[in-house]
Formats: sequence, C-alpha cells, structure tokens
Amino acid sequence: MPTLISSLPERYIQNDQRPSLAGLSREQLMEMLARVGVPEKQRKMRANQLFHWIYHKGVTSFAAMSNIARELRDRLDEAFQISRPEIVTEQKSSDGTMKWLLRLAPDERGQRHEIETVYIPEEDRGTLCISSQVGCTLTCTFCHTGTQRLVRNLTAGEIVGQIMLARDRIGDWPDALAANTQPPSSGRYITNVVLMGMGEPLYNFDNVKQAMDLASDGEGLSLSRRRITLSTSGVVPEIVRAGDEIGTMLAISLHATTDEIRDRLVPLNRKYPLAELLEACRNYPGLSNARRITFEYVMLKGVNDSRDDAKRLVKLLSGIPAKINLIPFNPWPGTQYECSDWETIESFAEIVNRAGYASPVRTPRGRDIMAACGQLKSESQKLRARERMAAQTA
Ligand code: SAH
Ligand code: SF4
Repeated sequence: MPTLISSLPERYIQNDQRPSLAGLSREQLMEMLARVGVPEKQRKMRANQLFHWIYHKGVTSFAAMSNIARELRDRLDEAFQISRPEIVTEQKSSDGTMKWLLRLAPDERGQRHEIETVYIPEEDRGTLCISSQVGCTLTCTFCHTGTQRLVRNLTAGEIVGQIMLARDRIGDWPDALAANTQPPSSGRYITNVVLMGMGEPLYNFDNVKQAMDLASDGEGLSLSRRRITLSTSGVVPEIVRAGDEIGTMLAISLHATTDEIRDRLVPLNRKYPLAELLEACRNYPGLSNARRITFEYVMLKGVNDSRDDAKRLVKLLSGIPAKINLIPFNPWPGTQYECSDWETIESFAEIVNRAGYASPVRTPRGRDIMAACGQLKSESQKLRARERMAAQTA
C-alpha cells in the first residue's frame, strides 16, 4: 500500500517573503553580499563560503555556517533565506518510489504553482526525476502533463531546489550519509538526475543551464554531467546548443517512426520533422559509443507498436550511437490510448535487440502513486482532499 506521509517538518511549511539564495551562481551570490554591505574585497571569498554551505553541505539556515561571523550571518538571515519549495505531500510507493508534490513561492502575479518530483531507487542507483516547467506548452497527445493549462518556466532555484529537497528528505547530504549506519552501496542515494518530469527543458534553456551548472559543480552538488539526462520532445534548434552549453546526456522522446504518426503523437513534429530531428542528433556534441543518445519510445497499442515500426526504428537510428528505451504507456484518466500488450512489447523489443541495441523495457515505477512517466500533473486537488481527510481522522 502506498503511504502518504503527512507530518512534515515545519520549515517546509513556510510563508517567507525573503528572497532565496538557493539557485544563485557564485557571481550572483557576490551581488547579494554587496546588498548587505559586504566590502568588495571580501565578496569573492564569502561567496565561495556560501556556495559551499548551500550546495555542498546542504544547510538550510545561515546559523549553521560556522566559518562566517555571527554578525554577518544575522545580516544575511534578515535579508535572505535558503529555502526549498514547500512540500504539500510526500508519498512513498509500495516499490520504494517517492513522489513529492511541491508548492512554489509566489510568482510575480502572486500565484503559487505546484510541481512534482519523483525519486526512483534501484539496486545500483537512485534516479531523481525533476521538472523544468509548471505544465508544458506542448500537447503530446499521450501525456498527462500536456493537458495542464497553466504553464510557467521554473527558475534555476526551483529546478536545483528539487534536487536539494530530495537530498534533505532522503538524507543524501555528506553529513547525513556519514552518520548513516547503512549507507547505500553506490555511495549516494541520488546518483542520477533526469529532466523527465513536467515540462520541456529546452523551452527553459537558461534556467535549466544554470541549474545543471550548479548540480554538476564539483564544489557544489557534484553530480557528474554524465549522470544527468535531459529529455526533449525535439526542439531541434536548441539540441546542439544544449550539448555545447549544458553538456548533459541527451534523451529524445521519439515515439514514432514516420512523420505521419509522430505528427499525431508529438505535435512539435510538424515544426521539426523526423529528418531534421535525427540530423540534430547526429550533430550532438560529444556523441560516441560511450556517450549514446537515449531514444524513448512509448508503447501505444495499435498506434506505433507493429513489427514494421520496430524495423523502421532500427533503420532510422542506424549510424547514431543510441540506446532505445521502450516505455510501457502509463494510462491516466481520460486518455484515448492503451498500453501495448506484453507480447507485442516483447516482439518489438526482440527486433530492436537483434539489431544490436540493448533495449530495456522500462518497468513502470510508482504507478500506485501516479508517479510513473507521463502521469505527472499536479493531482493537487485530489491529494489535498485526501490529505485533509487524513488530517481530520488523525
Ligand atoms: N518534455 C520532455 C521531458 C518530460 S516527458 C520530453 O517530452 O521529452 C518525459 C518522458 O515521459 C518523455 O519521453 C515522454 O514522452 C514520456 N511520457 C509522457 N507521457 C507518458 C505516458 N503517459 N506514459 C509513458 N511515458 C510518457
Ligand atoms: Fe510536454 Fe514532454 Fe509531455 Fe510532450 S511529453 S507534453 S513535451 S512534458
């Protein structure tokens, strides 16, 4: 049975007007230090200290910054905070998958949007799936997120804040790990990050870039760029630029092998058809057999799952160092699609395997808490009602 964890520490339930330092680069931290009157000569050193406390140690209060004088800590505390998004609910699936529904600080219109972040533990790794936008402007017909009306870009702080919050909740900061009597065999709980939650990351390029710079900074969150995967539905003009400037691994949501079918599934295909998309993939910087592009392919019954589709897929990708990820379609209320039958998926996988691609069929995780791919859409209404009921009966 999935559990809904309803008693959360108070610091996550906040109504704080101070701007947050989480998400800022060293240069931006220096500007903030200038605002509270730190002399220019000291700013660089102080910014490095802040950077270390915020992104390496993961502290959530200035009081913990023991190598900064109390007087400056007080000044910082008056002006700023190091907040994470507020946790509305935290759920744990029977398979260990965790999902957080997060409420963001008010935007300029005073609106408080909600996003979802998912943690998927496996034997040898732990993957955190983060969102890059509230909702998505694209309207892929099989994706629940695409049906959400409200859309805005997440700030760099809100993107990297999801990783920081997950580290808080799982106990994945260095000090927490050191105190842990049963640390994970991989050394960290969160070993991989995928930008596969809500939103199209390449439509929020600058903030995603800044957040990934912080996530991969060796003095910061220290996740290797090779363990971060950016998934795109195919924003062709930004793909090569993403390789140059963000430098993470790339995943392409392909899902079809002809323009006719892809136009229907991923409407962005009408703007950037398959031939252009695959050309951009061939030009992805750093592409090699050791650094392959992952092609995601959602299995939709009677739509894209025939043996001919499998053969066309193999042909289409020839010459591109690629991994193929077959994703069983995760249904959501009101969808017109069904997941392909298991035998169909197996015979599709066999054709792909025979062509030399390891094509793991992604096991759906966390379905009982609607945390699987494409099921993310702030289910907040429902959850809030449930949460209220839980609180009433507690
Ligand atoms: N917008 C980006 C990243 C987020 S979507 C993109 O489209 O790549 C992450 C992955 O989940 C994509 O491959 C997407 O196609 C897939 N997905 C969306 N809805 C799904 C569903 N209902 N079942 C299975 N996978 C789905
Ligand atoms: Fe947006 Fe990706 Fe969903 Fe398409 S699949 S609607 S691009 S989140």
